[in-house]
Amino acid sequence: MKVTDHFKTANKNTLVSFEVLPPLKGGSMQSIFKTLDGLMEFKPPFIDVTYHREEFIYNKRPSGYYEKTAIRKRPGTVGICAALMHRYGVDAVPHLICGGFSAEETENALIDLNFLGINNVLALRGDARQFEDKFMPEEHGHKYALDLVHQIADMNQGRYLDPNILNGEKTDFCIGIAGYPEKHFEAPNLNSDLQYTKDKVDAGAEYIVTQMFFDNSHYFNYVAACKQAGIHVPIVPGLKPLTKKYQLSSIPRKFFINFPEDLVKEVMKAEDDAAVRQIGIEWCIQQSLELKAAGVPCLHYYTMGDVLTSKAIAEAVI
Ligand code: FAD
Repeated sequence: MKVTDHFKTANKNTLVSFEVLPPLKGGSMQSIFKTLDGLMEFKPPFIDVTYHREEFIYNKRPSGYYEKTAIRKRPGTVGICAALMHRYGVDAVPHLICGGFSAEETENALIDLNFLGINNVLALRGDARQFEDKFMPEEHGHKYALDLVHQIADMNQGRYLDPNILNGEKTDFCIGIAGYPEKHFEAPNLNSDLQYTKDKVDAGAEYIVTQMFFDNSHYFNYVAACKQAGIHVPIVPGLKPLTKKYQLSSIPRKFFINFPEDLVKEVMKAEDDAAVRQIGIEWCIQQSLELKAAGVPCLHYYTMGDVLTSKAIAEAVI
């Protein structure tokens, strides 16, 4: 079933969904099953699985020179999606990124998903690789998520890259995209970011999942700004509980978001990370309850493999 159909059948009740990361290469699926087994009691209608492109690492050789090697630390997104659908009977939403893919490779990945019966995709650009100062598309690949949305929408119309394919099978992907209540870090301002988001919706994106935020006013203002910009698709809030003191600086550095002053003060007073985790859980519960009362379509939790934290929040919210 499509993510947007889940929203429709929920009939204005707020759903709960989770995002998982593939295990590090060499790890096993059991870590994901362990996380999700503990969360299935909350009946998530869909589970997102992130995609991780290859990174370059530099190994020092005996000569003193450095050897550049490409490695993918977390492969397996498509296989995990198929395994989750099989084990739990939930819908899986693979994240698909532009980075590292030519358009041809993207097409083949989408064909694999279609054959597996996976008809939801979160279409993203991806970030610059470590040691690269800006996002570089693959040769013959997409520069923006908009181009990826166009490609998926084309396949939904039976249009493939090879113009010789006539009457190609129409895929039926439900396309989600990312949204940034505190603005994407490369956008010159929120308005320009919203215009590009609208382009993606006009091209066929059917819902938005937001970057994490810790102050609900960012989400509510964003939803209002989207409406004003002519964006009328469901906007799912993405939530992550704070669990460690060092995240006060690591999260803003990585995700370009701000922490509210009250939360910072509480965390700074905490004696250890166990206390920080408790503060983070309480904060996330309050955020969730307010969002639920406002009638959001779904609360989407970034689990980061931490089942107990996600569970403590979901138990208090559902
Ligand atoms: P885009 O929509 O391409 O936007 C990127 C920037 O370009 C923005 O500043 C935008 O304003 C601007 N822009 C857009 N279109 C145009 C245009 N036509 N011309 C000029 N400027 C334009 N990353 C991963 O690698 N794997 C994941 O699994 C993953 N999951 C994510 C899930 C969520 C919910 C979110 C919020 C992010 C996720 N990301 C993931 C991170 C994401 O890939 C990065 O935030 C990335 O920097 C931007 O992706 P995007 O799809 O928003 O890009």
